[in-house]
Amino acid sequence: MRNETTAHVPAIRLWQALCGGAELPTRQYQHIIHCIACETLATQIGDALDDIEEALRRNNIGMGGSNADLRLN
Ligand SMILES: [Zn+2]
Repeated sequence: MRNETTAHVPAIRLWQALCGGAELPTRQYQHIIHCIACETLATQIGDALDDIEEALRRNNIGMGGSNADLRLN
């Protein structure tokens, strides 16, 4: 018996969704709501994104900002 809703949402899909890069299909979104493992993963990815953003700011590395000051050469 196949039940596609039992498949966990891939971490990369969660990451993309949290970055606003891709919308999750309704089925995967519903899965996250009912799956503690995926919900926890989504929370952890969100925390990681916050840490990354803070680290970039601390080191004066822009994160796709319009006023990014790139002087590589
Ligand atoms: Zn899951």
